[in-house]
Amino acid sequence: IAFSHAGYSLGSTKNALATGIAAREFQLIRVDNNVQGEVVLAKPVREYQGRLGRFQVLDFSEVRTPGRYVIKAGELATRPFRIADEVWKETIWKVVNFFFCERCGYAVPGSHDVCHRDWQAAHGDKRIIMNGGWHDAGDLSQGLVNTGEATYAMFALAERMKIRGEDPELLAALLAEARWGLDWILKVRFEGGYRIGFAGMNIWTNGILGDADDRVREARNNPTVNYIAAAAEAIAARVLRDSDPELAARSLRLAEDDWRYAIAGQESPETWATPAYAATPMELAAMGVLASAELYRATGKQLYAEKAFELGRIVVASQHTNYVGWQFPLAGFFCTGPDRSNIFHQFHRGNDQAPVVALAALCRLFPEHQDWIRWYSAVALYAEYQKRAASSTEPYGVLPAYVYKDTEYLQVPEGGGLYQATREAFREQVLNGMPLGDGYYLRAFPVWFARRGNYGVLLSQAKGLAAAAQLRSDLAAADLAQKQLQWVVGRNPFAQSTMYGHGYDWAQLYSVSSGDIVGALPVGMQTRGASDAPYWPAQNCYVYKEVWVHPAARWLWL
Ligand SMILES: [Zn+2]
Repeated sequence: IAFSHAGYSLGSTKNALATGIAAREFQLIRVDNNVQGEVVLAKPVREYQGRLGRFQVLDFSEVRTPGRYVIKAGELATRPFRIADEVWKETIWKVVNFFFCERCGYAVPGSHDVCHRDWQAAHGDKRIIMNGGWHDAGDLSQGLVNTGEATYAMFALAERMKIRGEDPELLAALLAEARWGLDWILKVRFEGGYRIGFAGMNIWTNGILGDADDRVREARNNPTVNYIAAAAEAIAARVLRDSDPELAARSLRLAEDDWRYAIAGQESPETWATPAYAATPMELAAMGVLASAELYRATGKQLYAEKAFELGRIVVASQHTNYVGWQFPLAGFFCTGPDRSNIFHQFHRGNDQAPVVALAALCRLFPEHQDWIRWYSAVALYAEYQKRAASSTEPYGVLPAYVYKDTEYLQVPEGGGLYQATREAFREQVLNGMPLGDGYYLRAFPVWFARRGNYGVLLSQAKGLAAAAQLRSDLAAADLAQKQLQWVVGRNPFAQSTMYGHGYDWAQLYSVSSGDIVGALPVGMQTRGASDAPYWPAQNCYVYKEVWVHPAARWLWL
């Protein structure tokens, strides 16, 4: 019986999934303070026949009394899970723990001493010791993209918790971690917008400057990186304004600098070839909207609002508003830019939330603006797209990865593409998706090659959906966003939690440098060969089972 090991929020739909159980009826049994258990619900097991096959659905959505429960169906029973208001809170504690244990340049108890004191960022003849922030994954890499986004996510969550007066102890832990990330963002930067977007590292260096194991990484001027830095610094300035005005002021000053460098970089050919995390025009505009919106909130300066409006038009124009396919028509997904010639796809790191979060921010901040209805419509259409698309993976209701066209493979080299991409393998994967008609296919998992694992994409999309749900008070969308979290922690075909140290039956993850860490999330589930079904082998190997701060940051942001 596959169920959410973290439990179910009081108001959410609640069900567990099974196949091949003989019982016709199941019971929900409340087990707090009572060894015998109290049967609170007895219902028929519902048979479900869909595209993915035959399932049995054990639905107990009507139960809204907080407590610990088990499901029993004939001789089969689950282990206990909760129905409660704050079922996700424990995962936040654990994910914050994961970040704490991924700290670079810090003596992590039981793991390592202060590390990488001889790792340097360089710009011309200038040097900065660049330890700090968080190691990226199972290896020891570090960079602004993930450290910046994680810092932003932590401050965003902290701000919401502050407003609601929630759990001061967790808030303090979260803020301590957010400030740790912020320190690095403020430290590792050179004038002119030169930063470390990403630097690979896979050894514990000896900490002595000037010998053979020193690592030096050249900083680059990358607008994507500068937008991410600006957004994180600006939200930090807002959240820390009362508690640490000096740090808040410094953070805001640097946010304005980074924003200027991003705009200058975006408009000058010098940076266009920056290889690290090259972003599509849609993403770049969306990240620019978020950074501009944060700076507008922090400063009230009109120039940030104007830039947000300008970039918001690019985001809106990048949405595919015409339906594709006649068998299963879909519209509302995003393209790589306003020319709408290519559908936006990712397969590792996910940035799918970017356009939706950006437009939702515009809607909240500028309700009187003439473009408001365009922003709002785009957010609404995206949410409807996700709901419709997720009906293809019922009864799980997992957000599918992307729509693909059957001619896209022609853009892929015959062989030797990025991460061992080949034209034929691309085509085969697309054709294994669900046909929409007119040569369009919907794949549950991205088309990918050597690098597989979908939590970056899945949780980014879930964040986009959650942002749309909040803006529109759309409970169905919020419920669907939660289903993605439930999938990660047990309501999946493996009936296994994939967050290390949370729920039941979680497996060791690939964390070769820093040891096993409670709260770690892997790169994600993969597929086998060209198929489009979830695949989660028992063997522990990168990259799908590698721990990664990217999905962990998305988890906190959700
Ligand atoms: Zn380190």
